[in-house]
Amino acid sequence: MRKHKIVIIGSGPAGYTAAIYAARANLGPLLFEGFYSGPAGGQLMTTTDVENYPGFPDGVTGPEMMDLFRLQSDRLGTTIITEDVTSVNLKIYPFIVEAKSGSVEAEAIIISTGATAKRLEIPGCGDKEFWQKGVTACAVCDGAMPIFRDKPLYVIGGGDTAMEEALFLTKFGSKVFIVHRRDEFRASKIMGDRAIHHPKIEVLWSHVVTKVEGDQVVRSVTVKDLKSGTETKRDAAGVFFAIGHEPNTSFLGSQIEFAQHGYIKVVPGTSRTSVEGVFAAGDVQDPFYRQAVTAAGSGCMAALDAERWLAAREHAHA
Ligand code: FAD
Repeated sequence: MRKHKIVIIGSGPAGYTAAIYAARANLGPLLFEGFYSGPAGGQLMTTTDVENYPGFPDGVTGPEMMDLFRLQSDRLGTTIITEDVTSVNLKIYPFIVEAKSGSVEAEAIIISTGATAKRLEIPGCGDKEFWQKGVTACAVCDGAMPIFRDKPLYVIGGGDTAMEEALFLTKFGSKVFIVHRRDEFRASKIMGDRAIHHPKIEVLWSHVVTKVEGDQVVRSVTVKDLKSGTETKRDAAGVFFAIGHEPNTSFLGSQIEFAQHGYIKVVPGTSRTSVEGVFAAGDVQDPFYRQAVTAAGSGCMAALDAERWLAAREHAHA
């Protein structure tokens, strides 16, 4: 079985950045970029324009940006394997990383498998329908797009994330509707109150969105009042899912400590996990920021943490 100093699992901004740093530190990283788990390159492969990543004054598409990340990590000497990691064994050392084509040993592991935004199967919201043409799952990423300016926007959810997204969208939309299937929020009282009392926000309690329609972009939503059963079609330019994210960690089993909602727990201000020699970067450990630039930044941290950990270990065993 081949032994590698660093194995990186996952290929979004966090994984490729970790690879760039690890490769430049002569650690010869091996990176599993995923296959069935989602598009290699991560969440940005599913979006069009990225306007908030520094260094691209005219914006860049998500896929273009991730191609550049990948090229850079490749050019510097990363070995990239287009496969999913199916399991790991963190109970022995060197660790074992298992994929379909076989197993490798790893002296250090960086987990950067991201998180998947939860979506509902509403007619009109699919990938080949209005997803990314008005339907999205990230207000901070997409809210400033011209298609949403001064138009009615709909946020689906009832937790703190939904409140945050709705409040953020008040900067852009003519009016923001929070569609919530219950008649009270799960959100903290302070966030719920802030949303309820905002002059541009209206809450549609006990409602669900049943259909999204449009032409090139979203033009309307149909909402259903769960109490009366009445369905109403309303003008809309945007539908924002704010019903949580699912960190991609199933291949880890219970070999590592998790924080709330399944995010990998790290020592604050570092990428260190509960298992020595295993580091986590990007959305898989970040319930708060979930942006490309923060994921890339934490990928850099993970590579530096791993490099220092390996050096200290080698020194101790010399
Ligand atoms: P991800 O990008 O999620 O990548 C993780 C990768 O790991 C995926 O390729 C996945 O397939 C792979 N993987 C998962 N499991 C395994 C496994 N077992 N083995 C191997 N590989 C695995 N952020 C911005 O800053 N600006 C924006 O404009 C913006 N727009 C967005 C638009 C959309 C539609 C979405 C969904 C997100 C957007 N974001 C944006 C958020 C941004 O995409 C994420 O914060 C960022 O991609 C997180 O990077 P990551 O490296 O942690 O993980």
